[in-house]
Amino acid sequence: MDKLIRERINANLKRLRLNRMQEVLDPILDRADKESTSYLDVFDKLLTEEICDKEDRRYQAIIKQSGIPFQKTIDEYDFSFQPELDKRVVMNLFDLEFMRKKENVFFLGPPGVGKTHLAVALALKAAQMSQSIHCTTMFDLMKRLKSDNAVRKKGRCRGYYRSSLVIVDEVGYMPISRRDAHLFFQFVCFRYEKRSTIITSNKSFSQWEELFGDSVIATAILDRLLHHSRVINIKGDSYRMNERHQGKDKPRTKAELKLLNHRAFKA
Ligand code: ADP
Ligand code: MG
Repeated sequence: MDKLIRERINANLKRLRLNRMQEVLDPILDRADKESTSYLDVFDKLLTEEICDKEDRRYQAIIKQSGIPFQKTIDEYDFSFQPELDKRVVMNLFDLEFMRKKENVFFLGPPGVGKTHLAVALALKAAQMSQSIHCTTMFDLMKRLKSDNAVRKKGRCRGYYRSSLVIVDEVGYMPISRRDAHLFFQFVCFRYEKRSTIITSNKSFSQWEELFGDSVIATAILDRLLHHSRVINIKGDSYRMNERHQGKDKPRTKAELKLLNHRAFKA
């Protein structure tokens, strides 16, 4: 009798595609028999297994299509290496209130201070909350905006336009033509007050005019991006150089050696 009921439950779980519940049904029921667990407890365990499995799969699917360059969390960020960075202000971002308010976040600073690391850590947190995320560099974003514009798709249905959180990494490494600046302006306007964008840049805002080669468009872009935003300035040393300093990796290029010498000279 018991066996027949189990078989029927198994078949029904299969029909409903409750795969994880089906997987753990027998071990959970066997254990419940031994330990005389209540039906309520069994039902609770089965549902929890199914929900955890579904959420985990959803998280993995979001991460897979997100384009994030690596998976690093905020726990892996060593705040003691950036003593001037206000840990509280950064940690406050992780309640994701900025996303609910459709605010933007800027991480500004020289190379290697952890701008991408912090942006990715925020994106991972958003993915855990089942929010759609997309990570791109400014270079790749401009390439896609141009190709989508050429075929008049305007990317309106694409992840980089519509995701709840988009990271635009490395703004400032290459100059943007006036025509491209207009495409970026359209992208910024589309997301303005509707979705959050994280920008990382090695340039200060006063250098944006030069970056976009046009003061009018640069001001219009910054005006919208900054209207509801949080700005985190990181002024410290490069963590990459620190790792090399400690001999985890040997400096390879002349430019790196020069930079290390320069830092040693400063110290
Ligand atoms: P940026 O984007 O500012 O150039 P990244 O975020 O790419 O710098 O950081 C470079 C590398 O150093 C990454 O592997 C990152 O995880 C690591 N890193 C940077 N700052 C820290 C830090 N304070 N604690 C731990 N790892 C760090
Ligand atoms: Mg970076």
